Amino acid sequence: MLKGKVAIVTGSTSGIGLGIAEVLASQLCDVMLSGFGDEKMIAALQARLHRQYKVRISYNGADMANPDEIHAMVRATRRELGSVDILVNNAGIQHVASIEEFPRAKWEAVLAVNLSAPFHATQAAIPHMRKKKWGRIVNIASAHGLVASKNKAAYVSAKHGLVGLTKVTALELAGSGITANAICPGWVLTPLIQKQIDERARDQRIKVKEAELQLLSEKQPSQQFVTPEQIGKMIVFLCDSGADQVTGAALSMDGGWVAQ
Ligand code: NAD
Repeated sequence: MLKGKVAIVTGSTSGIGLGIAEVLASQLCDVMLSGFGDEKMIAALQARLHRQYKVRISYNGADMANPDEIHAMVRATRRELGSVDILVNNAGIQHVASIEEFPRAKWEAVLAVNLSAPFHATQAAIPHMRKKKWGRIVNIASAHGLVASKNKAAYVSAKHGLVGLTKVTALELAGSGITANAICPGWVLTPLIQKQIDERARDQRIKVKEAELQLLSEKQPSQQFVTPEQIGKMIVFLCDSGADQVTGAALSMDGGWVAQ
């Protein structure tokens, strides 16, 4: 149970972040939602989580590509919810192209959201956690933080960087009561991945279900998707006292992907 704790989950208007926010709320944690999306959809989401779990749910629309907005989001969390105990750096974007064809602006955007944003959020959150001598920083990296695939230069570089950032964070905070870990999921069926599946189906003129199975078969031995809820439950474990000494780890949740 995380009653009385406050979590920021970046990129929680969709996919994995939304699943994480829901699991944390179900454990009675107050949550600052973040991410883009339709205003009405976000207001409805806030209201539903509040109603269902009787926790406080705030929302901040900070652009993760903007360091000032990230720092302001962390200040807003402290102001609106009273604390910053758990930081989940989850917001992320993808662009698929060969290095020769990779647009410079896409490289910059992927690095900004997937790597620089977790650095800025961590920097802003640490002083609040230090005051309480307790904190949890969880970076949602990827199997692509540990191994590469072609045509994903920016994403793979950013996620490998995020695993490195996690280790430095863990070392600098060791013994302080604050831990930092990375979770490295394999395929999770979210809008980010659905886009890649749809593109594959279109390019190869195959059914979407067939493209889905192809994607899984290439990388994920279990041939089953990881779910956002499973990732949320891993974070709940990381918040438990049983995980007090788990820090600086890159935890794979990938159906065996990187075991190969
Ligand atoms: P998604 O596209 O469903 O959700 C991404 C979230 O990030 C959304 O809420 C979006 O609004 C937000 N976001 C994007 N750019 C932003 C910005 N500039 N500022 C603020 N918010 C922004 O994606 P997802 O699949 O849920 O991915 C979430 C995280 O998990 C990403 O870091 C991704 O790299 C990682 N991941 C995903 C998979 C997968 O298979 N889906 C696997 C491994 C890791």
